[in-house]
Amino acid sequence: MIYNSMTDNNTSKQTLLGMSLEELTSALTALGMPRFTGKQVADWLYKKRATSIEEMTNISKANRELMAEHFVVGRSAPVTSQLSVDGTRKYLFKVATGGLVESVFIPDGDRATLCISSQVGCKMNCLFCMTGKQGFRGHLPVSEIINQVLSVEESEQLTNIVYMGMGEPLDNVEQVMKSIRVMTQDWGLAWSPKRLTLSTVGVRKGLERFLRETTCHLAVSLHNPFHEGRLEIMPAEQGMTLSETLDLIRQYDFSGQRRVSFEYIVFDDRNDSPKHAAELARILRGIPCRINLIPFHQIPNVPLRPTTRERMEAFKTQLERAGYVTTIRTSRGEDISAACGMLSTKEQMGL
Ligand code: SF4
Repeated sequence: MIYNSMTDNNTSKQTLLGMSLEELTSALTALGMPRFTGKQVADWLYKKRATSIEEMTNISKANRELMAEHFVVGRSAPVTSQLSVDGTRKYLFKVATGGLVESVFIPDGDRATLCISSQVGCKMNCLFCMTGKQGFRGHLPVSEIINQVLSVEESEQLTNIVYMGMGEPLDNVEQVMKSIRVMTQDWGLAWSPKRLTLSTVGVRKGLERFLRETTCHLAVSLHNPFHEGRLEIMPAEQGMTLSETLDLIRQYDFSGQRRVSFEYIVFDDRNDSPKHAAELARILRGIPCRINLIPFHQIPNVPLRPTTRERMEAFKTQLERAGYVTTIRTSRGEDISAACGMLSTKEQMGL
């Protein structure tokens, strides 16, 4: 279900935000406007970040009025935000269905990263994730993906975008690929694809397309190197196994500018043994990559516990000895429930 891909639900008008230069040009020439109006509107949307059609003052008043009969810009401000003591700021956006999605701004030295959502809820149902507990409520249209990037307070200072918020981006591949085009094309935000990272559990068709059509970085949610163990915490292992995901990744070059990383939440007594580290090192052999170990934060009603710092350090050392660049991620925004899905779930359930 894409509830707002090109139209605004309340007005039946099309949403300009997220449209490509070609789509804008063709929609506006169909209304009798000159071809160059498409470029002008793209500039207003993505370079000058206009929030209304009236602002587009190099377009004649008559054409602006005509546009306003058929289109809305599609920008909307976050409904709320929470600032952590460490500078992390979590935003909640209301989307057209009335659901809520999260974006998290994470400042870190020279980097200013925004973590964005691609779906309302998620179908993947990973055991360790609050978003998964919400179930799936819809795909975000490209307009609502781009709106997160343009409407956070820190928008103009962002250096990186990660598709790591709510949802599995490759389950909404069409809209996510459109959003990558808007962010990377000259007529759009004109960012280098190297500033974008997409995180996935592994969704075959989407991953094939993402790897083939972009040069953005990839982060794979791995969490257990054994099929059975991974399946217990990630039902998506059924659809595309880790071994199939790695086979596909091996067909692409990650030895240069493009990077792949593997995310590994470390749980007590589930995936933190030397046997797991050895298997992880074995299955990733030959892929130039980084491994990110992530501390787990307990969530309600889930039979998973965080491992100890000592075991996590030992796991890291074993991987480093095997030749992998391995980091332990520091937790950010703990005081504002910045873990994926936490805030919106609390909000939606009135917790
Ligand atoms: S971890 Fe990601 S893919 Fe898994 S349920 Fe949560 S949002 Fe979905």
